[in-house]
Amino acid sequence: MSKIIIIGAGGVGNVVAHKCAQSSNIFSEIILASKTFEKCLAIAQSVKDKTGKSIKCIRLDADDVTITTKLLENEKPDLLINVALPYQDLNLMDACLNAKVDYLDTANYEPPNEAKFEYKWQWDYEERFKKAGLTALLGSGFDPGVTNVFCAYAQKHYFDSIETIDILDANAGDHGYPFATNFNPEINIREITQKGRYWKEGKWIEVAPMSIHREYNFPEIGKKNAYLLYHEELESLSKNIPNLKKIRFWMTFSEQYLLHLEVLQNVGMTSIKPINVKGIQIQPIEFLKSVLPDPATLGEKTKGKTCIGCDISGLKDGNKKRIFIYNVSDHQKCYAEVLSQAISYTTGVPARIGAEMILNKKWRKPGVWNMEEMDPDPFMESLNKYGIPWNVINLKPK
Ligand code: NDP
Repeated sequence: MSKIIIIGAGGVGNVVAHKCAQSSNIFSEIILASKTFEKCLAIAQSVKDKTGKSIKCIRLDADDVTITTKLLENEKPDLLINVALPYQDLNLMDACLNAKVDYLDTANYEPPNEAKFEYKWQWDYEERFKKAGLTALLGSGFDPGVTNVFCAYAQKHYFDSIETIDILDANAGDHGYPFATNFNPEINIREITQKGRYWKEGKWIEVAPMSIHREYNFPEIGKKNAYLLYHEELESLSKNIPNLKKIRFWMTFSEQYLLHLEVLQNVGMTSIKPINVKGIQIQPIEFLKSVLPDPATLGEKTKGKTCIGCDISGLKDGNKKRIFIYNVSDHQKCYAEVLSQAISYTTGVPARIGAEMILNKKWRKPGVWNMEEMDPDPFMESLNKYGIPWNVINLKPK
């Protein structure tokens, strides 16, 4: 029996609220706090309709550490689940330290005025969380999150040493719009428009944005063009998987998505540099976000499947070995269950499972942790149980 507070009433917040409410025996009290109170109420209503469980709603600006600390001190939750935006990570970690509450998120910190993300800022909290006897679990979504656990599981059960990892993220879903993103458009576009980067033999190799692509045959989806991107789990996995020689991240995009993105970039709409419009300073990308469809509303229209997994090569008993460990999710099935498309679903479910791992103390250790640093077995078991079934296939070693 535990009390949790979910911060962020967006697409992912909706899934976390639904999935936690489905397990009332574990998450006995749920609070949902976010910037727009009405969004909390709408989620609470749909959770009530689907599960009969009541959720307490609170309006909160999570950038205000003092107010958030007071809220945590008053409510005394056992865990804070941060599914607001990456900009809030450090403020929420500070509030958790002040009020002595465990912390979990799904995306690493990004400064609002610089299109850059890295774990350094959050890893710097290690000593403070350790000293306070608190756990901070970073990146408990799908990628990062499940992909990190897939690697830890492969390391534990399939390989003596892992040499290369290719993380592959395919979304073959169609929402019917000419252009929309499946999670927060600002965060999504910032991620895609920055330089590609991968790690090889101890060095980071940088390439022009979207300049490297290859065709990959995804189970249940078929052949898709996947583009090399920098993604945050590369930073922690390159550090935490011993003997690793190379790790890359690939994501698929439709021709239509890429065409729109190119035009938006060419006209300056993806820039984070504020411009003056009739005396008001606005970030073009923030304006773009406000005219694009809200990802939280895409669920009903989105059809098709996602396939995300890790193509891992290495050695077992002196022989070369290669596996693909993956999940396939169906957008419409996710919508039927929690009124959300598969991208938010496959992020919210791992956040719910990570929360349970901290609350049941299987993963509760003072300090700041990435997912691959924990025992993967109980998490992998829960993925099958709570809606993200996975599979492993043997591939021909390269
Ligand atoms: P949304 O934009 O749909 O939701 C974000 C929510 O946070 C909104 O309700 C927003 O409120 C709220 N919020 C923003 N700023 C504040 C603030 N200062 N105080 C309180 N609440 C705030 O995003 P998603 O649900 O799609 O994504 C949520 C998180 O999940 C992001 O960090 C994203 O990067 C991460 N993610 C991780 C993935 C993974 O696999 N690891 C995949 C997909 C997403 P309002 O709407 O009122 O502005």
